Amino acid sequence: MAGRIRDEDIAEVRERAKIDDVVREYVTLKSAGGGSMKGLCPFHDERSPSFHVTPSRGMWYCFGCGEGGDVLSFLQKIDHLSFAESVEKLAAKTNVELRYVAPGLSRPTRQPRSSIATSSNHPRPRSAVNS
Ligand code: ZN
Repeated sequence: MAGRIRDEDIAEVRERAKIDDVVREYVTLKSAGGGSMKGLCPFHDERSPSFHVTPSRGMWYCFGCGEGGDVLSFLQKIDHLSFAESVEKLAAKTNVELRYVAPGLSRPTRQPRSSIATSSNHPRPRSAVNS
């Protein structure tokens, strides 16, 4: 069983991954000027693009639904991955070899900033669909 991924390796994956390349696999991006890009948000229904990606900062943000984050939180949300799974997926893409800290030997665990995707298997609420 794998332990926790080392922080250095997570940082390396974040650094090597190009957020615009990752997002482009899901969203068609157009230049929005000023070095940022925009497209139709994959997280809510819209006709005009309010989903912005800023590669220089490695961040994305949707002005329509207020979702935002970095490349890892994007993968977590769009593929419903856990934090570790999103790191592993990106590591495979960016050829970063992940090293794991054995459970029990790690420093006190810091929770990843976003606790959106937990391992519990909650289906997404469908209450957003209004008649
Ligand atoms: Zn949105």
